[in-house]
Amino acid sequence: MNSIPSNYGRSKKLGDKNDLRIKAIENGTVIDHIKPGQALNVLHILGVNDNFTNTVSIVMNTDGERGGKDVIKIEGRELTEKEVETIALLSPKATVNIIRDFEVVSKRKIGTPDSICGIVKCVNPNCITNSCEPIETRFAVTENEKTKTLSLRCVFCESVMTTEVFKYLL
Ligand code: ZN
Repeated sequence: MNSIPSNYGRSKKLGDKNDLRIKAIENGTVIDHIKPGQALNVLHILGVNDNFTNTVSIVMNTDGERGGKDVIKIEGRELTEKEVETIALLSPKATVNIIRDFEVVSKRKIGTPDSICGIVKCVNPNCITNSCEPIETRFAVTENEKTKTLSLRCVFCESVMTTEVFKYLL
């Protein structure tokens, strides 16, 4: 079935080959160390769709110092705080690098937020945040030390969500 050697495409040499794979950007954002396989979800969070005209580069399942990772580079775009918090739910170890004039002007590890507001919908259909009241959702975020999974507890109804948080994004 798989006739491609497992080390296909890997190279210890950087430089030209790396440049071909992904180009440096002048102004914008590089999101690095994204959990492998989550790049497309991150693009969704950032609203990158058919109408998006800025240059976007995506590398999925590439080699990082700490194992596999995805990387996204977006020209001419910086991230809002809400976008960063949302990405944190999918990939808390990601880093956000702001590029201006080809230089990294800020580098930030995202980390797991203590709480999130207005990003995720509560699973409980009877929760006040799912009624007609104009109330923003709010969840306390905790990380399970063993499984490294996040759980979100609704501060209004105490409902807890542990998996597939992404399905409930607003
Ligand atoms: Zn709730």
